[in-house]
Amino acid sequence: MDFIDLKSQYLASRELINTRIQTVLDHGQYIMGPEVAELEGRLAAFTGAHHCITVSSGTEALIIALMALGVQPGDEVITTPFSFIATAEAIVLLGATPVFVDVEAGTCNLDHRLLEARITPRTRAIIPVSLYGQPADMDEINAIAERHGLAVIEDAAQSFGATYRGRPSCNLSTIGCTSFFPSKPLGCYGDGGALFTSDDSLAKAMREIRVHGQSRRYVHTRVGVGGRMDTLQCAVVLAKLDRFEWEIEQRQRAAACYDDLLGSMLGDLLEPVGCRPDRSSVYAQYTVLVPQRERLQEALQAAGIPTAVHYPVPIDQQPAYAHWASLGGCPVAASLAHEVLSLPMGPYLDRPSAQRVVQALGEALRASVQAGKAA
Ligand SMILES: *Cc1c(COP(=O)(O)O)cnc(C)c1O
Repeated sequence: MDFIDLKSQYLASRELINTRIQTVLDHGQYIMGPEVAELEGRLAAFTGAHHCITVSSGTEALIIALMALGVQPGDEVITTPFSFIATAEAIVLLGATPVFVDVEAGTCNLDHRLLEARITPRTRAIIPVSLYGQPADMDEINAIAERHGLAVIEDAAQSFGATYRGRPSCNLSTIGCTSFFPSKPLGCYGDGGALFTSDDSLAKAMREIRVHGQSRRYVHTRVGVGGRMDTLQCAVVLAKLDRFEWEIEQRQRAAACYDDLLGSMLGDLLEPVGCRPDRSSVYAQYTVLVPQRERLQEALQAAGIPTAVHYPVPIDQQPAYAHWASLGGCPVAASLAHEVLSLPMGPYLDRPSAQRVVQALGEALRASVQAGKAA
């Protein structure tokens, strides 16, 4: 069993992907070829945002978003410590200070109730992460941001295709950032990402920053980066986009299958990270909370079930970031980091496979409870 089955996905769209790649090889416009604008048009339409700007990765998207907002040294940007490192890394790379606000246990997303107390005159932006594929409480976060004149960047690297109160992820705030890293719900075959906004002047700034701050050839109106997404990678995403809505349904079917099996077989032993009824998840990860995770992971590995941990150490406890930890830290994130375990997930995960995973998980859990009692 694969943790994420990219092979089956390729085989299902093989003709289309190969043809799209061949087309790029034939026209030879490897940088900013026609597939770039085509993809941006399709993704903007998918989310309803007025602008989509493809970039070289999800990390670059976050950096460009912060640059376009004018974030600079001395500014503070509020974010969650329970994310991939890139979320805070982008803030720090601009010389700004990351301010970590704890998450809520049920969804592992930023706890908006703790947000307002951390806003200072230096705060410029808030970056909530739509972790595991589920948007955070965006209406509450946007309302707080609006009261204080702050921008909200949704780190939607894991949630392209999800919805929040009927609205698509990436179009829920000032700017949305996503990633096309191969294992994300909509992945390419290398690095890629995109920015979304409906603000015309931010879109213009982000387009220029993507190409070295260039407003016309060799006229550099601002400082930028080399952040374009390759035409070949845009072609791969275009080919995969045709089946994407079906894949989202399949991911949600697989997650419902896990919910069902876990509830009936292991309801008293563990808990999955929940999805709120007013939003949908694209299940970049299907994550459960377990005791004695390391022992469990080993037992599952021995049973041929690959698992992963997202994330074992919260960002505010990472060696390079710990000096930005807030007084008292983020206890909920710290405790979740010991418990989270992500199970194999993807549109091609069928019920018998989910059953195998849950069966093995049950056996490992009971053995570990037994061992705990004996000790
Ligand atoms: C993957 C990821 C990123 C970074 O995306 P890359 O394309 O790998 O640079 C940023 N934030 C989160 C939450 C992610 O999961």
